[in-house]
Amino acid sequence: MKSLPIFRRNFAHGVHPGDHTEQTVHLSIQRIPFYSHYILPLGQHLGAPARAIVKIGERVQRGQLIAKPGAFVSTSLHSPITGWVRAIAPRHYPGGKLQPAIEIEADPYATQRFESKPAIDWENLSSEDFINHIQQAGIVGLGGAAFPSHVKYSVPENIHIKHLVVNGAECEPYLTNDHRLMLERPETVLQGVEIIRKKIGAELATIGVESNKANAIKVLNSHIKPYPNIKVVALRVKYPQGAEKMLIKSLFGIEVPAGRLPRDIGITVNNVGTLVAVADYFLTGMPLIERIVTVSGPGISQPANLIVPLGTPIREVLRFCGGLKETTREVIMGGPMMGMPLSSLDVPILKGSSGILAFTATETGKPQEYSCIRCGRCVEACPHFLNPSHLAKLAKVRWYEEMAKHKAMDCVECGACTFSCPSGIPIVHLIKVGKTEIRKEKIKYT
Ligand code: SF4
Ligand code: SF4
Repeated sequence: MKSLPIFRRNFAHGVHPGDHTEQTVHLSIQRIPFYSHYILPLGQHLGAPARAIVKIGERVQRGQLIAKPGAFVSTSLHSPITGWVRAIAPRHYPGGKLQPAIEIEADPYATQRFESKPAIDWENLSSEDFINHIQQAGIVGLGGAAFPSHVKYSVPENIHIKHLVVNGAECEPYLTNDHRLMLERPETVLQGVEIIRKKIGAELATIGVESNKANAIKVLNSHIKPYPNIKVVALRVKYPQGAEKMLIKSLFGIEVPAGRLPRDIGITVNNVGTLVAVADYFLTGMPLIERIVTVSGPGISQPANLIVPLGTPIREVLRFCGGLKETTREVIMGGPMMGMPLSSLDVPILKGSSGILAFTATETGKPQEYSCIRCGRCVEACPHFLNPSHLAKLAKVRWYEEMAKHKAMDCVECGACTFSCPSGIPIVHLIKVGKTEIRKEKIKYT
């Protein structure tokens, strides 16, 4: 078997926003207590929303299927709690819009213990059954994208996946959930990697971990002996190393061509959290009903790494962490580079919610926006070799055809350009708006 060469190198461009992990990196993952009401939006993954299969008033068990996939690019949804369905109606979504959701009231007398089931004989599942299991388990990419995982594993017959790349980079500042997972559950991480490696037919798996997580690299390596086809590789610290194409470039020194996917060059990329969810499902029968969330930032009274049931209102997560300090100005879901500012704290934790960050005026003090001084820093920062300044200018004048011609759709919305701009221009925001219009107006972009 010819394996890909492994380079301890980096991708070109990118930025160094700083780790800012000192508040939570040393804190073990703890479970948040159960709350009384949970809100489960039906469309909390990329693709078609799930279809509710429960009725108002129905009793549901923790881990019970409550919504089926609405299409192939869609996934199941399970109850994170034992209780009763109280509503199936529009509820506020983190982006500010209303979305259909299932609201469940917890039974205060239920133990809320998840009853483990016998391990599934995954090795003997056909490829089709395996994909079905992943879809039924409701597993999506837990790094933040929430892309249904079974779609990633459904590879056309003419493509042979040679390599599974595991994203343990966790390059967004403040977030430590993947770091703690690798430290506290290394065996489960490796089990999840091995399950997916074998089922997609990859000869090798490489876990890329940034070198600022040296203890995680050490712990993973101390458990790796039974897994000769898995390697852990230390990466130089740089943002956005967690982006699929950047990670592949850093590990192997090869480019995924623009407009193509990693699978086109025989690679599948998965986040460590996703692989733990896979292992948990096949080994204990637990579908995706909870996730690890880092709660951090200068505006948080007691930062933490928490296991949070999906659907828990963010207000309750913050209350458990001692509440917000008076100096808090903004609360973000996700990391500071790609996350989403929240307009309400009554929105729920979703499958893709890796962090809740509270920032004070020091972090959010948006500089006044000045004119572009043509310094070129945004161009230097862009890992996809785009011209962010030019794209932002085109977006401002609504010249979307021209944006498409200048490869705006290759932008991964990493925010490195905005971070580096001395004129305080909201470059990534402008590009996002432009991309939405390009899709809406069906402008050709490939
Ligand atoms: S243009 Fe897009 S890909 Fe390039 S730095 Fe900005 S956000 Fe990232
Ligand atoms: S970094 Fe800002 S000021 Fe500099 S070229 Fe880009 S948009 Fe203009």
